[in-house]
Amino acid sequence: MSGIYIHIPFCKQACNYCDFHFSTSLKLKSNLIESILVEIDLRHPYLENKNIETIYFGGGTPSLLSEKELFLILEKIYKNYNVSSNAEISLEANPDDLSVEKLKELKRLEINRLSIGLQSFNNEELIWMNRAHTANESEASVKRAQDKGFENISIDLIYGSKFSNLTNWKKTLDKAIALDVKHISSYNLTIEDKTKLGHDFKVKKEIAIDDEKSSELFLEMIDRLEKNNFIQYEISNFGKENYFSNHNSNYWKGIEYIGFGPSAHSFDGVSRQWNVSNNSLYIKNITDKKETYFEKEILLESDQFNEYILTSLRTIWGIDVLVLNTKFNSEILNSFNEKIKTYISSDMIIFNNNKYVLTSNGKLFADKIASELFV
Ligand code: SF4
Repeated sequence: MSGIYIHIPFCKQACNYCDFHFSTSLKLKSNLIESILVEIDLRHPYLENKNIETIYFGGGTPSLLSEKELFLILEKIYKNYNVSSNAEISLEANPDDLSVEKLKELKRLEINRLSIGLQSFNNEELIWMNRAHTANESEASVKRAQDKGFENISIDLIYGSKFSNLTNWKKTLDKAIALDVKHISSYNLTIEDKTKLGHDFKVKKEIAIDDEKSSELFLEMIDRLEKNNFIQYEISNFGKENYFSNHNSNYWKGIEYIGFGPSAHSFDGVSRQWNVSNNSLYIKNITDKKETYFEKEILLESDQFNEYILTSLRTIWGIDVLVLNTKFNSEILNSFNEKIKTYISSDMIIFNNNKYVLTSNGKLFADKIASELFV
């Protein structure tokens, strides 16, 4: 069981908070798609003989690709890999791209899961984020997708901007629930250095929301979504039963995957590699058949342990004692067993069925707890 990720590094405009790799110039789009096709052939031996259960088009904005471009990538993947007949095929889309015609194209391509970047239902906030759509367009795009037969739909929401307060966050969550989507990913706005928001924050044009307020919004989200049959299977991800993202769940469970396109990461259980985050360099080096379009790191046992703690602790599946005992040496285990006691006694973590899982209180400090458990 393995996954394939394809990074499409183009966007119509730059959202103020975003530090993913993308370009707002579409000049290199055709060349870049060509290079992705070459890369799929070049890296064919990676994950050879593995069954591909998930394919994920992320970005950037994959919904900017034409039907032909998406078709060529999928065709190349099917030619090189053994893809399960019931594979989950996800595509990230922005509401402004999801016309009736585009949705028909995606259906023809057998995309069976859409992840739509709504982010907010507040037009003022959408403008402040520099999103390319309005709140009405967001809602209409979800309904159109449902009308065209997409039932596995996820939406993204951001909370914690200066526009967020408990009253309007409750309304946002109620609107999201009323859309009858199967999955919601919701992230606290983070201020990244190399973004417009990061710059505005530095020159004091913007202020960050305080942690206490963010925690209040986070707990409200858990409460409201759980009351409406969403399961929080990862700190920022909520799915109805049978609608968790298989692709992302596999990342968190440490299952191998390969990533194509600039900035895409790959993981084979013992090493991690990542492609250059530069479109021209990626195209040039792939065309020259150089191996230098990626960097590679062999993961030490301590790295593998830290990754396992960081990802598993954020999930409903928790840290599994069986995995710890089979994968890690006694020195690492002794240190873990000693440190974990503090979090159990302070009601941050519970131990159940041989798994360590965060309590509601612990979820507020997930990454901090994980880093303190690192070796
Ligand atoms: S948030 Fe999405 S649409 Fe906006 S710039 Fe980032 S990748 Fe592009």
